[in-house]
Amino acid sequence: MPIKGRYFQALVAAGFAIVLCTAATIAEAKSNQDFRAFVEGLWPAAKAAGVSRSTFDQAFAGVVPDYSIPDLDIPGRPKIDNSGQAEFTKTAADYLSKPYLEKLAVQGRQFLAEHKPALERIEKMTGVDRYTLVAIWGRETAYGTYHPPKDAIRMLATLAYVGKRKERFHDELIAALVMLQRGIPRSDMKSSWAGAVGLTQAMPTEYLKYAIDGDGDGKIDIWRSVADALAFTARQLQGKGWVRGARWGYEVIPPPHADCSLEGPPDARPIGAWVKMGFRKASGRPFTKAELAADAYLMMPAGAYGPAFLAAQNFRVIRLYNTSDLYALFVGNLGDRIRGEGDFVTPWKAFAQPRTRTVEGIQARLTQLGYPMDKIDGKIGSNTRKQIGLYEKSNGLTIDCWPSDRVLTHANSQAAEH
Ligand code: CA
Repeated sequence: MPIKGRYFQALVAAGFAIVLCTAATIAEAKSNQDFRAFVEGLWPAAKAAGVSRSTFDQAFAGVVPDYSIPDLDIPGRPKIDNSGQAEFTKTAADYLSKPYLEKLAVQGRQFLAEHKPALERIEKMTGVDRYTLVAIWGRETAYGTYHPPKDAIRMLATLAYVGKRKERFHDELIAALVMLQRGIPRSDMKSSWAGAVGLTQAMPTEYLKYAIDGDGDGKIDIWRSVADALAFTARQLQGKGWVRGARWGYEVIPPPHADCSLEGPPDARPIGAWVKMGFRKASGRPFTKAELAADAYLMMPAGAYGPAFLAAQNFRVIRLYNTSDLYALFVGNLGDRIRGEGDFVTPWKAFAQPRTRTVEGIQARLTQLGYPMDKIDGKIGSNTRKQIGLYEKSNGLTIDCWPSDRVLTHANSQAAEH
């Protein structure tokens, strides 16, 4: 190519680059303008909640949306595979890592002794046992050694702006502004991407509803006072229906004829009825009279490839704190270990975590075939496992209640016949 031609080409390329740059800058400016307008639109609600204009302005000074938050609802943006939350992307065996649980249990027992008077007070006041409380603190921030790096106001504002549950995060954002109005330092509003704050990682609306002064120093400090943070957590669990004196649930050994399709809340029944069906405690100890009368449902987080549990009311309550079977099981088991009890009796078998696409495919196909799913979301919840088990059972397949290419291929061929 002659020099002139090259020069011309370079000029055209530069011109294009400038046009592209300008377009990007304009788009960015437009997007920032839209976000500012969104923030300004929050003012009436903030004002009505008692937030002053100066608190409001200081809260949002320099705040821009964080589009790196997983699972946002932005038109035209390719869907990110899964939410990135450990509860949904790790296998049960990885998430419930034995060395990590053991380490947290050893530390937990030390904190149990260190905070004994406060924990006794909280237990008496709320009925929530000290083991569960210390376990939640351990799970959420590794006893305060983990410091979430993100700005909670920025996270909540982004989620209220372009998240999938805008109304929910709008309310959380307003609650966070009220916290600032009450004098919480801006620098304490640190969170992970979901906007939860403090030693036990709780949402701002929960703070406004349940936070109290647990150590009696006249201040509520869920960032530095363990007694304040755990009293707050206990009140949250109490508010969600905690049963005083009861355990979260029990690892059980199912009888040979039982299968994993019995899993899930719709098949809940008194523990006495499970015992009549042949289920027994994995520890070998008998159930007490009170335990036999309590309702529980079967939960097998790895389908046929791991231990089985009877999940009682307090398991449901922990799940309301953080909606994940593995989370609730982690907290329950860590609490048991802190109490001095041990490991899971049935081991987790090694297996590959299926791809989100495979799980979604199975959920969609089974729904078509009359096996109702709550959501087609690629997450392996109780009902997804149960419906897979029922499908396997009625089609004469090996019953493992676990999403796999084997089940997807079978369901695809069934759907093609319909
Ligand atoms: Ca206090």
